[in-house]
Amino acid sequence: MTTAAPFVRFQRVSKTYDAGTSAAVRDLDLDVAPGEFLTLLGPSGSGKTTTLMMLAGFETPTAGAIIVEGEDISRKPAHKRGLGMVFQNYALFPHMTVAQNLAFPLQVRRAGRAEIAAKVEKALAMVRLEGYGNRRPSQLSGGQQQRVAVARALVFEPKAVLMDEPLGALDKSLREQLQYEISRIHRELGVTVIYVTHDQGEALTMSDRIAVFNKGRVEQCGAPNALYDRPANLFVAGFVGENNFLTATIAGSTDKQIRADGKAGTIFATSAGANTGTAIIAVRPERVLLDPAAGDTVTRLNGTVAERYFAGDHVRLVVRLAGDEEVAVKASRIDAEHLPEPGEDVVIGWRAADAFAFPPETTEAPPAPKSPKELQPA
Ligand code: ADP
Repeated sequence: MTTAAPFVRFQRVSKTYDAGTSAAVRDLDLDVAPGEFLTLLGPSGSGKTTTLMMLAGFETPTAGAIIVEGEDISRKPAHKRGLGMVFQNYALFPHMTVAQNLAFPLQVRRAGRAEIAAKVEKALAMVRLEGYGNRRPSQLSGGQQQRVAVARALVFEPKAVLMDEPLGALDKSLREQLQYEISRIHRELGVTVIYVTHDQGEALTMSDRIAVFNKGRVEQCGAPNALYDRPANLFVAGFVGENNFLTATIAGSTDKQIRADGKAGTIFATSAGANTGTAIIAVRPERVLLDPAAGDTVTRLNGTVAERYFAGDHVRLVVRLAGDEEVAVKASRIDAEHLPEPGEDVVIGWRAADAFAFPPETTEAPPAPKSPKELQPA
């Protein structure tokens, strides 16, 4: 967790549309530390963009407050907030050159000629586009245009830059390249970045912390490795990284570990809130072992290989267990002497520490307020 005074604080922020019948963001409490790279991650419609737009000043909270450096800016006009912005299809001015596009935010702020020239040069160097100042946007590739958009958001040295799916329109390899570039720029400048994406891989790669959104609420907020290794609930377990889910009935527990009866045999796992009754067991494909050595708390289940895919650095198997549940296995090609073929009988399993038992509760948010009267005026 962050210890510095927050740079941005969302305080019980809600946003409803259509006279309160549709809630986009519900009771959001979220702090962003100065210099932090915080990502809002979640499926489409979970409230990420609405949250970012309220911070930018393009939407007004229905309730709650947004505090920036101690000041409630909830109703301050967007252009007075001093935040840089990059969107997926951020329209650069097509009739202006790259340099003129970069100069624009400085001219608006009444910077002098010499200062503008120096800052434009610096911004071009930062995104590795030295020498491109005289081109027009139409003479640049999509990736170069997004670089210019990033440079334009940063050229006036804002304290924070907000990015909404800035790489969404680019192909995979360019997207990955720009992920590293934006991370590098963030490190070099120490600027606070608040970044929206639905791509969990992108979020894991770039962020200091990730807030996982679902139905207008934050399910979990933490460092990428914390979310990946210790998801707080089934939603996060399913959305961040990949997980297998098996249903089982808990038969006993010791300390933090549980023993459960699954459809295909006895399952050992670490409790993630489930201690009795039905549990959903989550285990990541890379944690599933082929023919694991037997042990006190080692799960061993019989199955048959249903599918096998070559994936370069690993082989992906789909194993069908008794009871018809399927488990994806990421098998290292280096470790395994023999990787089984489709149709082959196998034993798969895992150590209790590598699987988590969640209660089967849904993570459904409570229903939206029914009457507009329950809401504060917008
Ligand atoms: P995300 O960015 O996670 O895809 P959004 O913040 O865009 O999600 O949307 C959250 C919810 O709010 C969605 O259900 C969306 O349909 C709704 N919503 C967003 N903007 C409006 C609007 N202007 N009018 C009505 N509903 C909206």
